[in-house]
Amino acid sequence: MQNVLIIGGGIAGVEAAIYYRKEGFEVELISDRPYVFIYPIAIWIPVGTSTFDNVAFPLEKLSRRHGFKLTIDRVTSINAKQRAITLEKGGERKTDHLVIATGASKMKHAGIEHTLSICGIPEQSVQLKEKIDALIAKGSGKIAFGFGGNPNDPSGVRGGPGFELFFNLHHHLKKLGIRDRFEMTFFAPMPQPGARMGPKALTLMETLFKRNRFATRYGKKIARFEENGVVFEDESRLESDLTMFIPAGDGQPFIKESDLPLNPAGFIRINEFCEIIGVQGWYAIGDASALEGPDWKAKQGHIAEVMARNAAHNSALAWGFKSGEKKSYRDHLNILCVMDMGNGAGFVYRDDKKALLIPMPIIGHWLKIGWGWYYKMSKMGYIPRIPGM
Ligand SMILES: Cc1cc2nc3c(=O)[nH]c(=O)nc-3n(C[C@H](O)[C@H](O)[C@H](O)COP(=O)(O)OP(=O)(O)OC[C@H]3O[C@@H](n4cnc5c(N)ncnc54)[C@H](O)[C@@H]3O)c2cc1C
Repeated sequence: MQNVLIIGGGIAGVEAAIYYRKEGFEVELISDRPYVFIYPIAIWIPVGTSTFDNVAFPLEKLSRRHGFKLTIDRVTSINAKQRAITLEKGGERKTDHLVIATGASKMKHAGIEHTLSICGIPEQSVQLKEKIDALIAKGSGKIAFGFGGNPNDPSGVRGGPGFELFFNLHHHLKKLGIRDRFEMTFFAPMPQPGARMGPKALTLMETLFKRNRFATRYGKKIARFEENGVVFEDESRLESDLTMFIPAGDGQPFIKESDLPLNPAGFIRINEFCEIIGVQGWYAIGDASALEGPDWKAKQGHIAEVMARNAAHNSALAWGFKSGEKKSYRDHLNILCVMDMGNGAGFVYRDDKKALLIPMPIIGHWLKIGWGWYYKMSKMGYIPRIPGM
């Protein structure tokens, strides 16, 4: 039986492990974490409406259910010419069939240690909760949320979860009856953060920001972060007792140091079938890969899953397990997100033809909670999958 090595146990790696098994491959998944962190539902950890254990789903359970081998170890280097990877504990491994699903690293900013991110290492979601709880106990304060850019690859910019947590925190403070005692400001270097969701979404966001008395600092580059605030390029300051900041995605250092073909940001160059350019039998999927497509393209969980399923299908064709046409991820590029606000959500959709943000009071929030449950149940095979989800 043909073996495949998958590195990275996130949304892309898990989907790949499940689908390569379905296609009849022997699979080994190597992850530096023993769980898949379901990032889209992590936004509720800092406000106490979910817990770390609810968001971190054990990979061991998935490996038993789908019959793949799980190895907890960290990949420290990749050499495509030698067709080898090196593991921190396990040493060198040679493979003709590799799927790279190790996600993205983050842009470096001066003073980043004074910030916490909802999109960083999973433990930061818990640290954010502790910081928010301490601020609530203090009774008042200044809160600054923001996200940054990556001029080398805007598809790695992630603002949605920042907005989601911002709205959730507002709702949390309101429920406690203390919202008036906090100044809440959103900052970003671009003049219109969220513009890739389309013009209607921007207008609606403006209305919601005014209604909820959120201040903004847009269009100024971030010079550095300090203990009590953000300093912009013109040396103006935003005072803050809690700074939540999402740096844009960037290539992982061990990928940048490899001989893989990379785009200027350090993401792995692939063709539309997720095959790494010039490295036969090796694939890259999810946030680790360089997406090609329209200007508004964004790295998202459902795109990562389409890429994983396509890689499994295309591998099965290449190894003669079945016949048919190769599948391309490019036809599936869209932005699709239920942007949660704590007491409702906005349904965001963008493709080449339309751009929508439809408000969904109350039900939208429950839809997103339902999606988290659906993710776990369907990955475990306890419920059938809904096509396209
Ligand atoms: C807070 C948040 C909210 C989001 N909300 C949405 C949403 O509502 N809808 C949506 O579609 N998308 C959303 N996204 C985006 C989505 O979560 C990502 O696109 C998706 O997680 C990408 O999956 P991935 O497997 O490529 O990367 P990741 O999920 O980052 O997984 C990478 C995995 O690789 C492992 N790894 C990394 N380096 C190594 C190494 N050297 N050795 C071994 N293992 C390694 C990591 O531990 C991790 O498990 C959100 C993202 C965040 C952060």
